[in-house]
This record gives sequence, structure tokens and C-alpha cells, in this order.
Amino acid sequence: MTAFSLSGQTALVTGANTGIGQAIAVAMGRAGAHVICAGRSACDETVGMIDSAEAMALDFADPMAARDLFETRPVDILVNNAGIIRRADSVDFAEVDWDDVMDVNLKALFFTAQAFARAALPRGAGRIVNIASLLSFQGGIRVPSYTASKHGVAGLTKILANEWAAQGINVNAIAPGYIATNNTEALRADPGRNQAILDRIPAGRWGDPDDIAETAVFLSAPASKYIHGAVLNVDGGWLAR
Ligand code: NAP
Repeated sequence: MTAFSLSGQTALVTGANTGIGQAIAVAMGRAGAHVICAGRSACDETVGMIDSAEAMALDFADPMAARDLFETRPVDILVNNAGIIRRADSVDFAEVDWDDVMDVNLKALFFTAQAFARAALPRGAGRIVNIASLLSFQGGIRVPSYTASKHGVAGLTKILANEWAAQGINVNAIAPGYIATNNTEALRADPGRNQAILDRIPAGRWGDPDDIAETAVFLSAPASKYIHGAVLNVDGGWLAR
């Protein structure tokens, strides 16, 4: 087994039906893990792309939906990927768009991590990979609840690492740059915004979900065993600019 192998591990990925979550699930499978593809939409397509995988219904319309998930099911790696975004000028932003985004992106992420840790701490081993954002560091425009939630994801990644690192659980996050998925469809469809974004990315292209997926494998594998509380930018150089 190499330092980058996930052989013998079980990984659970939230929001595994599409986009970054689907790519992460497939990459985990390629690295040798058994993958539980969890989502509110059917994950059959993703399961069909992986040698050893299963689908699980998980809808964070209830942010506590995962509270009992790990009691009966040993899971070694949790990827908190599910996330939503709502766009409106801050001056007009609606309470429902605040609550919905905070519930999925932040509250569900925390309580899913808590449920995972309650099962993993007695075993003394586990990996959590949270999906953060460039808006864990920057302000963005017209996405106030998303920005608040993703700043929160960076903060939670650090506090959970502080509490659990000595007990064998690595908690880290990935901050994806601009990745071509449903989440960014509106940006790519706007020629002005699309060009402005491309002009600022040193790599000169939108990211691919696979760019994030291989990083998630690294943060779940023995190779990263001394990495705790990191929020790793995978952004084509955006934040270096
Ligand atoms: P996406 O294609 O819209 O995928 C989002 C995933 O979250 C989908 O599987 C979605 O399920 C799931 N989800 C949403 N609400 C849910 C709920 N209530 N319960 C369970 N699952 C739910 O977008 P993506 O770009 O792959 O996003 C994945 C993660 O990356 C998110 O956390 C996002 O904030 C983050 N991210 C993306 C980018 C980017 O440029 N694309 C950049 C930075 C961070 P449905 O398909 O059923 O809606």
C-alpha cells in the first residue's frame, strides 16, 4: 500500500451525484476506497462509475440528517462537499436565502462532522475533508450567506483540527477556485463575468472537478497524516495574484 492509497478505507461523500462531489467519489474509488455516495438526488450514476460503491439518501433540508449515520456504519473518511449558493444584492437579500445556505453549508457540515467524530474518536482514526471556497478568504459579490458560511467552514476546520488532531482525526479543507460545475453555471453564462474571471486566473482556465478530487484523495491518504487544520487553495493561482 502506497502513501497515496485508500485501500481498505470506506469514504462517505455528501453531494456525490454531480460536480465536485461526484469527481471526489470517483477519485476515492480509483484510490481503492469503498465509497458511500450520499445525496438528496439519486447517486446511481456516480455509483456506476466506481468499482466498490453504494448510494445513500441524505438530504440536508434537515441539517441534522446525519446525526445517527455513523453509529451503525463504520466510515473512515468523511467529505463534507454538499453546498448551495444564492445570489442577490445584499441590500435585498432574503432571510430564507440566508437560512437555507447556512443550514446546508455550515450547520449540516458541523453536525455531520460531530456525528462522524463520535464514532471515529474511540477508534483513534479518521479523516474529514471539508469543501470551503475562495470566499472563505475573500468577500465576493451578491452572495452574503455563501461568503459567511464558507468563512465559517474555514473556522470550523481549524477548531475541529485543534480538538481532534491528537486523537487521530485529521480535519482539513480544500478551497476550490472557479470550477466548472452547476454551482458556477450563472457566472460562466455571463460573458463579462466569465472573461473577468479568466483574466485573473494565472493558470488561464476554469478548474475541473478532477483538480479538486485528487487533492481530496491526498488529504484522506497516509501521505497527509501530519496535515491538520489546513485550508488548501486549489485555484489555478487565483489567490496568489
Ligand atoms: P453543484 O454541482 O451544485 O453540487 C452541489 C452538491 O451539493 C450537489 O450534489 C447537491 O445536490 C448537493 N446538495 C445541495 N443541497 C443539498 C441538500 N440539502 N442535501 C444534500 N445535498 C445537497 O456544485 P459544486 O460546484 O460541485 O459544489 C460542491 C461544493 O464545492 C460546494 O460546497 C460548493 O460550495 C463548493 N465550491 C464550488 C466551487 C465551484 O467553483 N464550483 C468553488 C468553491 C467551492 P443536488 O444536485 O441534488 O442539488
